Amino acid sequence: MATDLRVSLTDRCNLRCSYCMPPEGLPWLPNSDVLTDDEVIRLVRVAVERLGVREVRFTGGEPLIRPGLTKIVAASAELAPRPQLSLTTNGIGLERLARPLRDAGLDRVNISLDTLDADRFERLTHRRRHHDVLAGLTAAVAAGLTPVKINAVLLRGINDDEAPALLRFALAHGYELRFIEQMPLDAQHAWDRGTMITAAEILAALQAEFTLLPDPAERGGAPAETWLIDGSTGLDGRPAKVGVIGSVTRPFCGDCDRTRLTADGQVRNCLFATEESDLRSALRDGADDDEIARRWRAAMWGKRAGHGIDDAKFLQPARPMSAIGG
Ligand code: SF4
Repeated sequence: MATDLRVSLTDRCNLRCSYCMPPEGLPWLPNSDVLTDDEVIRLVRVAVERLGVREVRFTGGEPLIRPGLTKIVAASAELAPRPQLSLTTNGIGLERLARPLRDAGLDRVNISLDTLDADRFERLTHRRRHHDVLAGLTAAVAAGLTPVKINAVLLRGINDDEAPALLRFALAHGYELRFIEQMPLDAQHAWDRGTMITAAEILAALQAEFTLLPDPAERGGAPAETWLIDGSTGLDGRPAKVGVIGSVTRPFCGDCDRTRLTADGQVRNCLFATEESDLRSALRDGADDDEIARRWRAAMWGKRAGHGIDDAKFLQPARPMSAIGG
């Protein structure tokens, strides 16, 4: 059974990243379909107490816009065994929330930053909020949500020239940078395998300026392949690392230990699943924890061996990334 639970707390977002959704946004989930704070807390508890989940990552959409986020984190931190608690965010609002989330029990954060240029950021996200993301990064370190990881997606002809600069920036501030291959999960279904920047291209761009050494650390089910950066030191005094998540060209499905819960209470046994299992109805129909756990296990048993993106029959999921979460 999976040990790493990803919980999407909302499908709504305050950015409009072009590789995720159109500038006008999307028709959001009706509030009545979205799990209440107490329903989320109960499902996280069932996952930790009965299904062996040891890591919980809160995602979105943008999880910082969920009013009950701190309450959900605090309740999750009370669970036994206590799970590792992390958050994937676009950073907007983190300047204000980093400390309260840390105090509630959050352990660390991943913050999306695809460019160092404020104008480019606005073209990519249709919002002028670059400074808020940078302020969020600083506040995360100050609050002790470390290691602070940066997630960056490179798009051909838009920001694919920034790989070395982003790494220099991360090294200068002690952030751990990971590049993520663009995935076929955009709401517009415009993803194109041919124009996607591959892991190999990202590594080549980095190796033009840095010497990357194999990372001796055990990878396990971690999505990112990591390299040590020769001659660099991280905040912890050890060699700094850079990561690449090559979901498309270097898949890691064999070691995947993730299970996903959507904001409207559906279990997804894979990021690219085209089928889901409904826990919300079971919850609201009065199912007990045994029944919830039994349904969740059954959903995971149907997990496919791989995402099949390179198969001719590959079908992009109907649910967009913004409603699945990282
Ligand atoms: S959900 Fe994430 S990728 Fe999508 S628009 Fe929001 S910040 Fe961007």
